Amino acid sequence: MIRAVGRRQLLAGAGAALVLSPLAGCSNGPGRTVLGADSPKTLVPIRASTDLIERITVCTRPFRPLGPRIEAEKFDAKTVIHNYGHGGSGWSLSWGSAEIALDQARATGQRDIAVIGCGALGLTTAVAAQRAGFTVTIYAKDLPPKVRSALASGVWTPDSRICFEQHATPEVKQRWQRMCRVSHEAYQNLLGLPGDPVEWIDNYRVSDDPPGTRHERPKDDRPEFAEFQQELVPELVPARAQFKPGEHPFGNRYAARAPTIMFNISAYSTFLISQFREAGGRIVIHEFHSPRDLAILPQNTIVNCTGYAAGELFGDQSLVPVRGQLARGITQPDVRYSVYYKGVSFVPRRDGQVYQVVGDSDYYGFGIATTDPDRAEAEKAVTTIASLFTNA
Ligand SMILES: Cc1cc2nc3c(=O)[nH]c(=O)nc-3n(C[C@H](O)[C@H](O)[C@H](O)COP(=O)(O)OP(=O)(O)OC[C@H]3O[C@@H](n4cnc5c(N)ncnc54)[C@H](O)[C@@H]3O)c2cc1C
Repeated sequence: MIRAVGRRQLLAGAGAALVLSPLAGCSNGPGRTVLGADSPKTLVPIRASTDLIERITVCTRPFRPLGPRIEAEKFDAKTVIHNYGHGGSGWSLSWGSAEIALDQARATGQRDIAVIGCGALGLTTAVAAQRAGFTVTIYAKDLPPKVRSALASGVWTPDSRICFEQHATPEVKQRWQRMCRVSHEAYQNLLGLPGDPVEWIDNYRVSDDPPGTRHERPKDDRPEFAEFQQELVPELVPARAQFKPGEHPFGNRYAARAPTIMFNISAYSTFLISQFREAGGRIVIHEFHSPRDLAILPQNTIVNCTGYAAGELFGDQSLVPVRGQLARGITQPDVRYSVYYKGVSFVPRRDGQVYQVVGDSDYYGFGIATTDPDRAEAEKAVTTIASLFTNA
């Protein structure tokens, strides 16, 4: 039986002197254990080589300590419904977040709305609004792939850097639960489509230590990030199967496997844009410099999905950048599983492999706004994954 410990205990060690090895828990909690699971011995090894790094991309997650901002604000005749600040969970929570924003749009009584932004939140909100009967125009400075959302890892991470635990009030939790359930359901309806915009894959968490191993971690006085999955949506946390050395291709290590949802972001963004256009949606390239610029819009109800840029545009000082860098490798179509090992994650996206140093806590990259690529970090990510297959 594996013990329920969260990411915070495992990774940040905030205040905890002793933590269990990663196999005792995971980013989405330990869930249940699968008994008698089939062996993953025949998995195709990942061709992880620094020579195959095809590009390095860097982007900032829009983190708000209080959680995503989904609320209406009046600017003269305009009602702006904010829908930004989703940290490391923007893709994961997009459908549910759109639903909450659209409840507020409905309350204005207007059916012709503007959506500012064409990233994960803008596109999803626009498509969800059309399905709810609104006429929608997207206004955005940039379109995919030139948006921050295009630089995400592309996996189901609904409580990654979503808020600080000290701000996780019952209302915040209830809202997150709704966002999470609605989005999860929406993704089940996007499976099996041409180009696989969304698919289930297996995720392996690999550790040098057997399950239950305890490690000392330094005390950390910074606020803890909220972790919601185990507590609020346990039914969505898949069961994990445990494998000993010899039962998998990762050498003399221990592995835990659970299914997860992956977003092939190029195909998925293209799918959303096509859906939007086919339903009569219009996209206008336009940059807003201040809320005063909203006056030029014919629509009086505007959903603000500008992500990290909302900080400057609407003066939200609470937004914190959390830097994240991806090393993109050439696609290996026969590898259909993701891996986490020693603070590095690998995702087998069909639009290019993703290697990322995620560090040993959600504070990795916290407060760092620079988007300069770091080649050494990219190579560390790739060589850590390569070591799973070479140091057997
Ligand atoms: C390295 C990394 C990995 C991540 N991995 C995942 C993951 O695996 N799963 C997950 O769910 N989330 C992940 N995230 C988080 C996710 O990427 C973000 O939460 C999400 O991209 C936020 O999307 P958005 O639509 O709010 O913002 P953006 O993608 O930044 O879109 C903003 C839009 O607004 C427009 N805009 C901005 N300013 C203006 C302006 N002044 N005038 C007009 N238009 C404007 C932009 O052009 C753009 O179209 C990751 C983030 C990073 C950095």
